[in-house]
Amino acid sequence: MSRYDYDLITIGAGSGGLSVAERAAAYGRRCVIIEAGPLGGTCVNVGCVPKKIMWFAAHHAHALADAAGFGFDVYVGGHDWAALKRARDGYVGRIVEWYGGWLADQHIELIRGRAHCIDAHTVEVEGRRLSAEHLVIATGGLPQQPDIPGASFGIDSNGFFALEARPARAVVVGAGYIAVELAGVLRALGTDTTLLLRKDTVLREFDPMLGETLMSALAADGVRILTRTEPQRIERRAGGSLHIERSHGDPIDTDCLLWAIGRAPATAGLNLEAAGVALAEDGTIPVDDYQNTAVPGIYALGDVTGRAALTPVAIAAGRRLADRLFGGQPDRHLDYGLIPSVVFTHPPLGTVGLTEPEARSRYGDEAVRVYTSRFTPMARAFSPERRETAMKLVCTGPEQRVVGVHVIGDGADEMLQGFAVAVRMGATKRDFDDTVAIHPSSAEELVTMR
Ligand SMILES: Cc1cc2nc3c(=O)[nH]c(=O)nc-3n(C[C@H](O)[C@H](O)[C@H](O)COP(=O)(O)OP(=O)(O)OC[C@H]3O[C@@H](n4cnc5c(N)ncnc54)[C@H](O)[C@@H]3O)c2cc1C
Repeated sequence: MSRYDYDLITIGAGSGGLSVAERAAAYGRRCVIIEAGPLGGTCVNVGCVPKKIMWFAAHHAHALADAAGFGFDVYVGGHDWAALKRARDGYVGRIVEWYGGWLADQHIELIRGRAHCIDAHTVEVEGRRLSAEHLVIATGGLPQQPDIPGASFGIDSNGFFALEARPARAVVVGAGYIAVELAGVLRALGTDTTLLLRKDTVLREFDPMLGETLMSALAADGVRILTRTEPQRIERRAGGSLHIERSHGDPIDTDCLLWAIGRAPATAGLNLEAAGVALAEDGTIPVDDYQNTAVPGIYALGDVTGRAALTPVAIAAGRRLADRLFGGQPDRHLDYGLIPSVVFTHPPLGTVGLTEPEARSRYGDEAVRVYTSRFTPMARAFSPERRETAMKLVCTGPEQRVVGVHVIGDGADEMLQGFAVAVRMGATKRDFDDTVAIHPSSAEELVTMR
């Protein structure tokens, strides 16, 4: 008989928390999951899922604009943002509801409320104390706002999903994937959109080709991009508009200011000190390759660890942790290298492996060979705006192992998953060359590059 109430307590029912609990329960362990908000966490409620629905809406807007080139006499009367939001909320609501039944089916206990630690094996929620042999912190992250006067007049990505109507004008601040995705959606649905960048380019952690090509696409779609500038003071004017004074350049008046300047780990109020877990300087919970914190029996995974903040990463880390703790697989852990990711812009972009600058600094210029291709895809042959596809293969060594694949263009979002498998298996340029192309497609360029 165990001296604990449960085998596993998980704080947070987002992508990571649900996954570790599900796998642990599948091994027959007694699990409880504690959640302060809606089930599904960020991804389901204010992240990937509602974002992708907005991306589809923007995709349809682009398709309507392109339709004339294919002979259609299309008249678009308008776009009903409120109707789209209702449908989106309904879709998300059904997923959240489904999770409730699913947890019960898996025999995972759910406790609603905000948890904090009492010690390394005890957690308190709503005045109730629970103990477990293993404690997983999967509390995710929260959007940040800058510390400047009037910042709270702006909204963040959570606020974006709460908008009941399309803003006539919007200023999006940020250069990361959330900034460019939401700027693209707003513009496609008819908002006069400005993107403010602190530096010169977007997506600075990606291969430079992707950011540069995306900036041209955003500009072609009518997003005004202002570089080397930051908001310094925001005022609300009579009539409700916002007046943004910035570090360089004239002030901007807008109806909606959207901060997309990064996310911070959600650890406030967890009382991790009581459990002996110290935070890193940036507020994340430090973990080793096995999701272990410095305290035996306490683990962290997902966005709160600050490592590759993506849903499938949190899921994979959670499942592997349960395999290790309860499934008799002592070395099971997530390999954080070669994680593919997609940015849902228009066109989308996808990436796996090393960027060209990373490969050059890791292997040296002599060892690195890069293949590129840039073309207008057939689907865009009759579009009002030329929307280019650009691709890059980064190869190293005498055998030309493919260590990076980077694509921006229609279909990149669906293309990359399969190529990620090839890169993971150590495919060489010769393997790519020996693969028969699928024609006519954009993806065929990746196996026909010279
Ligand atoms: C706008 C946006 C778009 C995104 N798009 C994508 C995408 O396209 N693809 C992708 O892979 N990723 C995307 N992400 C990232 C993805 O959503 C996260 O990486 C993922 O949700 C992380 O899962 P998690 O389990 O670590 O945390 P979360 O999903 O954030 O879950 C944490 C949960 O913990 C709960 N919690 C926190 N503190 C406590 C407490 N003390 N007690 C009880 N409960 C608590 C929270 O309420 C929350 O439900 C996006 C994120 C955003 C914001």
